[in-house]
Amino acid sequence: MIIILLGLIGAGKGTQAKKLVESMGFLHISTGDMFREAVKNKTAIGLEVEDCMSRGDLVPDELTIKMLLERINRDDAQGHLLLDGFPRTISQCEALELALLTKNLQIDFAVNLFVEETILLERISKRAKIENRQDDQVDIAKQRLDNQRKSLKEVASFYSKTNKFIEVDGFGSVDAVHGRVMQEISL
Ligand code: AMP
Repeated sequence: MIIILLGLIGAGKGTQAKKLVESMGFLHISTGDMFREAVKNKTAIGLEVEDCMSRGDLVPDELTIKMLLERINRDDAQGHLLLDGFPRTISQCEALELALLTKNLQIDFAVNLFVEETILLERISKRAKIENRQDDQVDIAKQRLDNQRKSLKEVASFYSKTNKFIEVDGFGSVDAVHGRVMQEISL
């Protein structure tokens, strides 16, 4: 099964991804985590994306797609995947479809965790204090929200066309939200 986990910043994607990995054994691939790791380790990609990320902007498609495709072409990525934070643009959606097609795979569901934006901003400012994430500072987070709202709409409409888009109420306890997600993806 291949699931794309969607949601605006602070919607609980990371937390729900962990729960899904525990209960379903997915390989979790988060482009945000990969970029943060690259920045931390000062790799060539990290140095290239650092400014972009700290402004809250999306990293250019070419670089993001290349990194993601390299990841899903590794031996451990054999079709039981949870993609988190990718795709975020139509080009990314198309590149992913094509790459999966050549592996005879396809996306099962694109699950959006929906949470009201006032609640999102509260969660983000809390996380900024606890984790000291520069891109969670409130001004930057607002910028990320603006970018993400637009890109989420594009990605949602892409997967709606093939009836793969599912919206789940992301408000409530971690377990309650996880239960809703599981219900939606159970075949
Ligand atoms: P995230 O943790 O998924 O919100 O990602 C953190 C940051 O990494 C984003 O604000 C972007 O700068 C960058 N990023 C992660 N995934 C993507 C993507 N699919 N396309 C472009 N930029 C991305």
